[in-house]
Amino acid sequence: MRPAIERVACRIMEAADELTALDSAIGDGDHGHNMKRGWQAALDQLDELAGLPPQEALQKLGMTMVGKVGGASGPLYGTLFLQAGKAWDGTLSLGAVAAAVEAGVAGVKKRGKSEAGEKTMLDVWCPVIEALRSAEGAGDATRRTRVAADAGLAATRDMKATKGRAAYLGERSVGHLDPGARSSALLVGALCDLIDEEAHA
Ligand SMILES: [Mg+2]
Repeated sequence: MRPAIERVACRIMEAADELTALDSAIGDGDHGHNMKRGWQAALDQLDELAGLPPQEALQKLGMTMVGKVGGASGPLYGTLFLQAGKAWDGTLSLGAVAAAVEAGVAGVKKRGKSEAGEKTMLDVWCPVIEALRSAEGAGDATRRTRVAADAGLAATRDMKATKGRAAYLGERSVGHLDPGARSSALLVGALCDLIDEEAHA
């Protein structure tokens, strides 16, 4: 968990200004700041998180996100990690990871009363689940997952928001990437990079 949290936190913090700019275009401009605060809190708890079994650490990380990330994204990321942690057996087998992500995403759908296609983080996470499932036995899971996340993110540009604050903009939300989809794709990309590096180490 330690390198995973460090890697994601670093990637999110580097991109804070970009996330804020995306959220300024179609929301209230706080996503970069909120995510930075949440992941800084995760870094502050790093020793404690790293000392827990990974599935418990993921649940605790979810609680931290609920407490520290404001806006809509705090409860959504919190639910994602919490439910994924509860469902996860703590191993990195493809099936175990896919099942955990699937449980987390089911929680996000329920919490946000949302589905893919509504210009949210789900437009990244739903294709990621499909990629993980399709990679069974294929040996290129990180490549498939990264491609799916990036394509899902790109697809949010032409979508009209019907959920969250961006929904107030209606048609004017079209033409902008969704900030929550962007932060989700950053997270997925950071984890895929880490897995690839460890596989080649
Ligand atoms: Mg916002």
